[in-house]
Amino acid sequence: MKYADEFRDKTIAQGLARAIGAEAGARRAYRFMEFCGGHTHAISRYGLEDLLPANVRMIHGPGCPVCVLPASRIDMAIRLVERPEVTLCVYGDLMRAPGSQGQSLMRAKALGADIRMVYSTLDAIRLAEQAPNREVVFFAIGFETTTPPTAVMVRIAEKKRLRGLSVFCNHVLTPSAMHSILENPKMRNIGGVAIDGFVGPAHVSTIIGTQPYEPLVEQFGKPIVIAGFEPLDVMQAILMLVRQVNEGRYEVENQYSRAVTRQGNRRAKDEVSQVFELREQFEWRGLGLVSNSGLMLKRVYAGFDAEARFAMHELRVADNPACECCAILRGAKRPVDCKLFGTVCTPETPIGSCMVSSEGACAAYWTYGRVRDDQVRRLS
Ligand code: SF4
Repeated sequence: MKYADEFRDKTIAQGLARAIGAEAGARRAYRFMEFCGGHTHAISRYGLEDLLPANVRMIHGPGCPVCVLPASRIDMAIRLVERPEVTLCVYGDLMRAPGSQGQSLMRAKALGADIRMVYSTLDAIRLAEQAPNREVVFFAIGFETTTPPTAVMVRIAEKKRLRGLSVFCNHVLTPSAMHSILENPKMRNIGGVAIDGFVGPAHVSTIIGTQPYEPLVEQFGKPIVIAGFEPLDVMQAILMLVRQVNEGRYEVENQYSRAVTRQGNRRAKDEVSQVFELREQFEWRGLGLVSNSGLMLKRVYAGFDAEARFAMHELRVADNPACECCAILRGAKRPVDCKLFGTVCTPETPIGSCMVSSEGACAAYWTYGRVRDDQVRRLS
């Protein structure tokens, strides 16, 4: 692990912390949103907030695909798998994601539904080949990082004439979510204080590149620094954001240049554009309906679209009122602001998606003990 260790060097982290402290000064407050759950986990796991001066605060964003999937989409999947001919393939972290009224895919499976946990789209292809008389539906979820494998799966299915395989598409787009946060005054001014900039996604940006963020910084005048998921990546990105704010600049900067280019991965983008097109709008937990933020299969691949094939209807369901996931995903609250955190709601007995998902902010706080740190701070 020599390579990763180099991005976790304590001395360099302390040096970056000193630089942030010196350059942030005390003249103003800085509030940066880290969009990705991966960054939230790095911040919690390595205690990075403890290295930052009091006037530099991180706000956790909505960048966890399981967390932002609304309960309605889980309910739709549960209704689908009530059909006896359907086998539903899902990634593991989705099994416990909450639907309405305490429903989940895990519970549906316990009641007899044919739900299989898969590790990749290739598993779904294999299942469809092994069971040609079944309707095998892949529950496709994720940001731009997981979309190319789904596109490849559809094209393989077409080539192999796997007519029993289809996709329940829940892929969503990062820049559209950032646009939604920035254009909504309530969200961009959380608690009356404006977000000063974003730590931008790592893995997503390896696919889409830095170019799609450029219209955002131009329109809203907020800097975005694309950053890797190691602690030194995050610290360096924060320093870069502080410098942009101090100099009155708002640009897209790329801290993660070892993996991200301006153009992104052309091959992956080509695969996606051949199979998918934009939905007019898609519902996000926490953000509501966001225009042009979700993908659906193109008409030419409609035969692989589970929503069309099984006449699935859009649902609107209410979230559990006691769970603060929606406010946490907007950055308006922190996990410790939820009354259920660590009492009723833990990773063993999760109530909301932010505790279910390994990328969720509540799971990060619990797993890395940030709740204890917060309690100590309050008592001291
Ligand atoms: S602690 Fe549990 S109930 Fe509270 S916001 Fe997080 S996931 Fe929801």
